[in-house]
Amino acid sequence: MLLGAPGSGKGTQAERLSAALGVPAISTGEMLRREVSRGSEVGGRVSAVMASGRLVDDALMTEVVRARLRESDTHRGFVLDGYPRTPEQAETLDQLLAECRRELTAVVLLEVPEQVLVKRALARRRQDDRDDVVRRRLEVYREKTEPLTELYARRGLLTRIDGDRPMDVITRDLLTALKGN
Ligand code: ADP
Repeated sequence: MLLGAPGSGKGTQAERLSAALGVPAISTGEMLRREVSRGSEVGGRVSAVMASGRLVDDALMTEVVRARLRESDTHRGFVLDGYPRTPEQAETLDQLLAECRRELTAVVLLEVPEQVLVKRALARRRQDDRDDVVRRRLEVYREKTEPLTELYARRGLLTRIDGDRPMDVITRDLLTALKGN
């Protein structure tokens, strides 16, 4: 599982880990954006919330992640990116993993200073990367998601990685941190 603020590089590193390890990246933000661009029913329900920088509701996220974990390509493992984002989602994830007899093996936090996060987001120009929305997403992260760091640290699963370095160096450190899993 990758943890980190919006703009910390989770999506990029999830893709790289996926390629290096031969397991799928489960990126919930990416999955939701795909639903929005397809104009699906789920997409219709989440587009306004996403554009505002708030979180999609837990019940819908549970169904999205449950369905994804049931797909056969996850059997040899997966990289989770963007889920869980709240303590409630973390609890649900434990249940979802128990349902499919899986276990978390590692949680990595990508640490990036706030001013770098803002700069990166504003350079990215996604629809939810407007200045006020970026700030909202950072606030939501600090309030709801950051507490998860402590939770996984207490479980002995957490590794912290400096995310303010060249992408290749970060990927190398991630792969080192995952060795033994
Ligand atoms: P970032 O990594 O920049 O925060 P993501 O691509 O992970 O962005 O997510 C974009 C948006 O999708 C979030 O701001 C939120 O509205 C929605 N989203 C993604 N994952 C979740 C989740 N686990 N719970 C609730 N909303 C989510």
